[in-house]
Amino acid sequence: MPEGDTVLQTARRLHTALAGHPLTRCDLRVPRYATADLTGRTVLDVTPRGKHLLTRVEGGLTLHSHLRMDGAWQIYAPGERWRGGPAHQIRAILGTAGRTAVGYRLPVLELLRTRDEARVVGHLGPDLLGPDWDPDEALRRLLADPARPLGEALLDQRNLAGIGNIFASETCFRAGATPWLPIGELPAPERLVTAAKNLLEAHRERPGHRRTLAVYGRADRPCLRCRTPIRTALHDGRPAYWCPRCQSGPTP
Ligand SMILES: [Zn+2]
Repeated sequence: MPEGDTVLQTARRLHTALAGHPLTRCDLRVPRYATADLTGRTVLDVTPRGKHLLTRVEGGLTLHSHLRMDGAWQIYAPGERWRGGPAHQIRAILGTAGRTAVGYRLPVLELLRTRDEARVVGHLGPDLLGPDWDPDEALRRLLADPARPLGEALLDQRNLAGIGNIFASETCFRAGATPWLPIGELPAPERLVTAAKNLLEAHRERPGHRRTLAVYGRADRPCLRCRTPIRTALHDGRPAYWCPRCQSGPTP
């Protein structure tokens, strides 16, 4: 699943490519919106909200999309070959005079009134990378269910928005707890929230720097702190990684 920072990068690229320009092409390949036509409307902004992308256009409309597991928005210059996947995977095309944005494999594509955005993203907790980030509210939501395993609580976007598998494992490592520790048993939960925020921000500044990851994807390799081999297991169907020495708490 894309992390909040992946969605943020996508939103930034889309915003740079489209915002301020009128749409000259609009093709939404979802039966419900097949006849929707946004051409002539200027793109106002492209905003990430958790893992959702909100593309706002003139006239009070928002195109809501979600990347889920392997969706992607690609941006092309005129004449450039599209290489995001086969044509049947294209769900949306938004073009301006200078750029064409092509949405591939988008499991969620929905056109709604901008004033109704809360209907699709209002359930999200504070966004780690959003302008309205609120650590106290995130902590309050996380601790509302103290028996919940840490990894699961971090992945629940209703608690705080923006954490996927990678940063769930990384945040647990920095908190010194396994993903299975009930969150109410964490000695200093406020540090957890700070760690998550710092991780996402560091990754946003240097996207793609996998070597900054301490445990994720490093199964059987030595822990960067104590040299103990990193372990991995499925947590709720998703891969989790941890150091058995640096992190305390239950394991599968
Ligand atoms: Zn270790």
